Amino acid sequence: MPNETSFGELTRETLSELSADAIAVVPLGATEQHGRQLPTATDTMIATHLAERSVRLVADEVKVVLCPTVPYGFSEHHVPFGGTISLDNDTYIRVLTSIGRSLSRSGFKRLIFLNGHGGNVAPGSAAADRLVTELGLDLAVGLLSYWECIDERTRAAFTMPAPGHAGGFEAALISALAADLVLPLPQDQGSSARDDAARPLNVSDEMKGTTRFPNMWQASDGVTDIPAHPDPVLGAELLENVSIAIAEYVKQFDAATR
Ligand SMILES: [Zn+2]
Repeated sequence: MPNETSFGELTRETLSELSADAIAVVPLGATEQHGRQLPTATDTMIATHLAERSVRLVADEVKVVLCPTVPYGFSEHHVPFGGTISLDNDTYIRVLTSIGRSLSRSGFKRLIFLNGHGGNVAPGSAAADRLVTELGLDLAVGLLSYWECIDERTRAAFTMPAPGHAGGFEAALISALAADLVLPLPQDQGSSARDDAARPLNVSDEMKGTTRFPNMWQASDGVTDIPAHPDPVLGAELLENVSIAIAEYVKQFDAATR
Protein backbone atom coordinates (compact mmCIF):
# COMPACT_ATOMS: atom_id res chain seq x y z
CA MET A 1 0.00 0.00 0.00
CA PRO A 2 1.33 3.44 -0.85
CA ASN A 3 2.10 5.80 1.99
CA GLU A 4 -0.63 8.45 1.82
CA THR A 5 1.76 11.21 2.75
CA SER A 6 4.44 10.39 0.16
CA PHE A 7 4.23 12.31 -3.11
CA GLY A 8 6.41 9.77 -4.88
CA GLU A 9 4.25 6.79 -3.91
CA LEU A 10 0.95 8.29 -5.00
CA THR A 11 -0.77 8.52 -8.40
CA ARG A 12 -1.72 11.75 -10.15
CA GLU A 13 -5.39 11.09 -9.32
CA THR A 14 -4.76 10.75 -5.60
CA LEU A 15 -2.50 13.79 -5.63
CA SER A 16 -5.02 15.94 -7.43
CA GLU A 17 -7.63 14.95 -4.84
CA LEU A 18 -5.24 15.83 -2.02
CA SER A 19 -3.79 18.99 -3.52
CA ALA A 20 -6.62 21.41 -2.69
CA ASP A 21 -6.23 20.90 1.07
CA ALA A 22 -2.83 19.32 1.65
CA ILE A 23 0.38 21.13 2.47
CA ALA A 24 3.24 20.05 0.21
CA VAL A 25 6.47 19.76 2.19
CA VAL A 26 9.71 19.93 0.20
CA PRO A 27 12.93 19.21 2.15
CA LEU A 28 15.95 21.24 0.95
CA GLY A 29 19.32 19.55 1.29
CA ALA A 30 22.81 20.09 -0.05
CA THR A 31 25.66 17.96 -1.37
CA GLU A 32 28.80 19.60 -0.08
CA GLN A 33 32.00 18.99 1.80
CA HIS A 34 31.50 18.52 5.52
CA GLY A 35 35.08 18.47 6.68
CA ARG A 36 37.18 15.35 7.25
CA GLN A 37 34.65 13.42 9.31
CA LEU A 38 31.12 13.93 8.00
CA PRO A 39 29.48 12.76 4.74
CA THR A 40 28.67 15.18 1.94
CA ALA A 41 24.95 14.34 2.24
CA THR A 42 24.81 15.56 5.85
CA ASP A 43 22.34 18.39 5.24
CA THR A 44 20.22 16.26 2.89
CA MET A 45 20.03 13.43 5.43
CA ILE A 46 19.06 15.76 8.27
CA ALA A 47 16.42 17.68 6.28
CA THR A 48 14.90 14.45 4.93
CA HIS A 49 14.79 12.79 8.33
CA LEU A 50 13.23 15.80 10.05
CA ALA A 51 10.66 16.23 7.27
CA GLU A 52 9.63 12.55 7.39
CA ARG A 53 9.41 12.61 11.14
CA SER A 54 7.47 15.85 11.51
CA VAL A 55 5.07 14.82 8.72
CA ARG A 56 4.37 11.59 10.65
CA LEU A 57 3.75 13.64 13.79
CA VAL A 58 1.12 15.89 12.19
CA ALA A 59 -0.46 13.45 9.73
CA ASP A 60 -3.48 12.75 11.97
CA GLU A 61 -4.32 16.44 12.28
CA VAL A 62 -3.09 18.09 9.09
CA LYS A 63 -3.14 16.89 5.49
CA VAL A 64 0.46 16.85 4.31
CA VAL A 65 2.25 15.42 1.30
CA LEU A 66 5.99 14.92 1.57
CA CYS A 67 7.76 15.64 -1.71
CA PRO A 68 11.20 14.31 -2.69
CA THR A 69 14.16 16.12 -1.14
CA VAL A 70 16.14 18.52 -3.33
CA PRO A 71 19.64 17.08 -2.83
CA TYR A 72 21.57 20.06 -4.26
CA GLY A 73 21.65 23.58 -2.92
CA PHE A 74 23.60 26.80 -3.13
CA SER A 75 27.04 25.66 -1.92
CA GLU A 76 29.44 27.74 -4.01
CA HIS A 77 31.43 28.68 -0.90
CA HIS A 78 32.29 25.00 -0.37
CA VAL A 79 33.32 24.20 -3.95
CA PRO A 80 37.02 25.10 -3.42
CA PHE A 81 37.33 22.31 -0.82
CA GLY A 82 36.18 19.59 -3.25
CA GLY A 83 33.45 17.01 -2.57
CA THR A 84 30.79 19.56 -3.43
CA ILE A 85 28.05 19.79 -6.07
CA SER A 86 26.47 23.24 -6.08
CA LEU A 87 23.76 25.00 -8.00
CA ASP A 88 24.63 28.64 -8.54
CA ASN A 89 22.43 31.17 -6.80
CA ASP A 90 20.27 32.12 -9.75
CA THR A 91 19.83 28.48 -10.83
CA TYR A 92 18.78 27.48 -7.34
CA ILE A 93 16.18 30.26 -7.14
CA ARG A 94 14.83 29.02 -10.46
CA VAL A 95 14.79 25.38 -9.29
CA LEU A 96 12.75 26.24 -6.21
CA THR A 97 10.49 28.53 -8.25
CA SER A 98 9.90 25.71 -10.76
CA ILE A 99 9.07 23.27 -7.97
CA GLY A 100 6.59 25.74 -6.45
CA ARG A 101 5.05 26.59 -9.81
CA SER A 102 4.66 22.89 -10.72
CA LEU A 103 3.01 22.16 -7.40
CA SER A 104 0.71 25.12 -7.91
CA ARG A 105 -0.21 23.92 -11.40
CA SER A 106 -0.85 20.48 -9.86
CA GLY A 107 -3.45 22.09 -7.62
CA PHE A 108 -1.49 22.69 -4.42
CA LYS A 109 -2.20 25.93 -2.61
CA ARG A 110 0.21 25.51 0.29
CA LEU A 111 3.89 24.69 0.32
CA ILE A 112 6.58 24.51 2.99
CA PHE A 113 10.26 24.35 2.10
CA LEU A 114 11.99 22.65 5.04
CA ASN A 115 15.60 23.72 4.79
CA GLY A 116 18.72 21.95 6.05
CA HIS A 117 21.49 24.17 4.65
CA GLY A 118 22.50 27.75 5.48
CA GLY A 119 23.39 28.68 1.89
CA ASN A 120 19.80 27.95 0.82
CA VAL A 121 18.22 30.58 3.05
CA ALA A 122 18.69 33.68 0.87
CA PRO A 123 17.82 32.03 -2.49
CA GLY A 124 14.94 30.16 -0.79
CA SER A 125 13.56 33.44 0.43
CA ALA A 126 13.96 34.96 -3.06
CA ALA A 127 12.10 31.99 -4.58
CA ALA A 128 9.26 32.39 -2.07
CA ASP A 129 8.96 36.08 -2.97
CA ARG A 130 9.02 35.26 -6.67
CA LEU A 131 6.29 32.62 -6.35
CA VAL A 132 3.94 34.59 -4.18
CA THR A 133 4.62 38.26 -4.89
CA GLU A 134 6.06 38.45 -8.39
CA LEU A 135 4.23 35.57 -10.05
CA GLY A 136 1.15 36.14 -7.91
CA LEU A 137 0.39 32.42 -7.65
CA ASP A 138 -2.45 31.26 -5.46
CA LEU A 139 0.11 29.59 -3.22
CA ALA A 140 1.12 30.18 0.39
CA VAL A 141 4.83 29.46 0.88
CA GLY A 142 6.65 28.76 4.13
CA LEU A 143 10.44 28.59 4.39
CA LEU A 144 11.68 27.08 7.61
CA SER A 145 15.30 26.25 8.39
CA TYR A 146 15.33 23.47 10.98
CA TRP A 147 17.78 25.23 13.29
CA GLU A 148 15.19 27.95 13.84
CA CYS A 149 13.40 25.25 15.83
CA ILE A 150 16.18 24.74 18.37
CA ASP A 151 14.91 26.26 21.57
CA GLU A 152 17.01 28.84 23.41
CA ARG A 153 17.68 26.57 26.39
CA THR A 154 19.16 23.87 24.15
CA ARG A 155 21.14 26.43 22.20
CA ALA A 156 22.55 27.91 25.38
CA ALA A 157 23.65 24.44 26.54
CA PHE A 158 25.93 24.05 23.54
CA THR A 159 29.61 24.80 23.66
CA MET A 160 29.86 24.46 19.86
CA PRO A 161 28.12 26.54 17.17
CA ALA A 162 24.56 25.32 16.54
CA PRO A 163 24.08 24.38 13.78
CA GLY A 164 27.55 25.57 12.64
CA HIS A 165 28.97 23.69 9.68
CA ALA A 166 30.40 20.18 9.84
CA GLY A 167 31.15 20.59 13.53
CA GLY A 168 30.02 18.93 16.73
CA PHE A 169 26.37 19.83 16.25
CA GLU A 170 25.91 18.20 12.85
CA ALA A 171 28.16 15.32 13.93
CA ALA A 172 25.82 14.64 16.86
CA LEU A 173 22.82 14.50 14.49
CA ILE A 174 24.56 12.25 11.94
CA SER A 175 25.94 9.98 14.66
CA ALA A 176 22.32 9.45 15.74
CA LEU A 177 21.13 8.84 12.16
CA ALA A 178 24.02 6.84 10.70
CA ALA A 179 26.87 6.43 13.18
CA ASP A 180 29.04 4.48 10.74
CA LEU A 181 29.22 7.50 8.43
CA VAL A 182 30.98 9.64 11.02
CA LEU A 183 34.71 9.06 10.72
CA PRO A 184 37.06 9.41 13.66
CA LEU A 185 39.45 12.33 13.38
CA PRO A 186 42.64 10.83 11.87
CA GLN A 187 45.35 10.79 14.54
CA ASP A 188 48.01 12.24 12.29
CA GLN A 189 45.70 14.98 11.02
CA GLY A 190 44.21 15.71 14.38
CA SER A 191 46.33 18.60 15.48
CA SER A 192 46.67 20.27 12.07
CA ALA A 193 42.91 19.94 11.39
CA ARG A 194 42.21 21.37 14.79
CA ASP A 195 44.57 24.26 14.14
CA ASP A 196 43.04 24.89 10.71
CA ALA A 197 39.51 24.89 12.04
CA ALA A 198 40.52 27.11 14.88
CA ARG A 199 42.02 29.66 12.51
CA PRO A 200 39.39 32.35 12.93
CA LEU A 201 38.42 35.14 10.60
CA ASN A 202 39.60 38.39 11.99
CA VAL A 203 36.07 39.76 12.05
CA SER A 204 33.19 39.85 14.51
CA ASP A 205 30.11 37.61 14.15
CA GLU A 206 28.10 40.68 13.17
CA MET A 207 30.50 41.43 10.33
CA LYS A 208 30.40 37.79 9.21
CA GLY A 209 26.62 37.98 9.10
CA THR A 210 26.43 41.20 7.13
CA THR A 211 29.51 41.17 4.92
CA ARG A 212 30.99 38.90 2.28
CA PHE A 213 34.74 38.45 2.25
CA PRO A 214 36.75 36.78 -0.53
CA ASN A 215 37.88 33.30 0.52
CA MET A 216 35.97 33.61 3.77
CA TRP A 217 35.64 29.85 4.24
CA GLN A 218 39.13 29.01 3.07
CA ALA A 219 40.38 30.91 6.10
CA SER A 220 39.26 27.85 8.07
CA ASP A 221 39.39 24.12 7.26
CA GLY A 222 35.82 24.36 5.91
CA VAL A 223 34.29 23.59 9.28
CA THR A 224 33.17 25.75 12.18
CA ASP A 225 34.50 23.39 14.84
CA ILE A 226 36.01 19.91 15.06
CA PRO A 227 33.54 17.15 15.95
CA ALA A 228 36.09 15.13 17.90
CA HIS A 229 33.56 13.23 20.05
CA PRO A 230 30.13 13.26 18.44
CA ASP A 231 27.38 12.48 20.91
CA PRO A 232 24.63 10.24 19.43
CA VAL A 233 22.45 10.53 22.54
CA LEU A 234 22.46 14.31 22.30
CA GLY A 235 21.87 13.99 18.54
CA ALA A 236 18.82 11.75 19.01
CA GLU A 237 17.41 14.14 21.60
CA LEU A 238 17.90 17.11 19.28
CA LEU A 239 16.28 15.33 16.34
CA GLU A 240 13.28 14.52 18.48
CA ASN A 241 12.89 18.05 19.89
CA VAL A 242 13.36 19.70 16.51
CA SER A 243 10.87 17.30 14.83
CA ILE A 244 8.26 18.23 17.43
CA ALA A 245 8.92 21.95 16.90
CA ILE A 246 8.68 21.57 13.12
CA ALA A 247 5.38 19.69 13.54
CA GLU A 248 4.17 22.64 15.62
CA TYR A 249 5.19 25.04 12.85
CA VAL A 250 3.29 22.93 10.28
CA LYS A 251 0.17 23.10 12.45
CA GLN A 252 0.51 26.88 12.78
CA PHE A 253 1.07 27.23 9.03
CA ASP A 254 -2.02 25.08 8.45
CA ALA A 255 -4.14 27.27 10.74
CA ALA A 256 -2.79 30.47 9.18
CA THR A 257 -3.36 29.43 5.56
CA ARG A 258 -6.69 27.62 5.63
ZN1 LIG B 1 25.70 20.91 6.99
